[in-house]
Amino acid sequence: MSRHEGVSCDACLKGNFRGRRYKCLICYDYDLCASCYESGATTTRHTTDHPMQCILTRVDFDLYYGGEAFSVEQPQSFTCPYCGKMGYTETSLQEHVTSEHAETSTEVICPICAALPGGDPNHVTDDFAAHLTLEHRAPRDLISF
Ligand SMILES: [Zn+2]
Ligand SMILES: [Zn+2]
Ligand SMILES: [Zn+2]
Ligand SMILES: [Zn+2]
Repeated sequence: MSRHEGVSCDACLKGNFRGRRYKCLICYDYDLCASCYESGATTTRHTTDHPMQCILTRVDFDLYYGGEAFSVEQPQSFTCPYCGKMGYTETSLQEHVTSEHAETSTEVICPICAALPGGDPNHVTDDFAAHLTLEHRAPRDLISF
């Protein structure tokens, strides 16, 4: 997979574009290509304040993380859908949300489901902390004896 098949940019309407894709974690099904994201595209519902998840294609994964400078154990970093802080792993995002946003019940889109191949790209949840615990418990936690 070298392109975002079936996805078009909601600002310039370019379809199946290459490179980075930015998905809004507040607006349902709102994606931007890298150049629109960088130019700060907005709509009546979407503002640049909305947290966005950067999603890479398989080819970009290899381009960005194929070198030895990057850890292959963390091929994708996640954005907190509440405060927009970036760079979390599944585990650290779970810890962050549990400690910082336990009282929050705003509907958000799960950045992990959106970024993972084969995940639901628009999984909306109003209890993100519980969703993380139920759906994204890190596999290594389950195989510790
Ligand atoms: Zn665009
Ligand atoms: Zn938005
Ligand atoms: Zn946060
Ligand atoms: Zn999820």
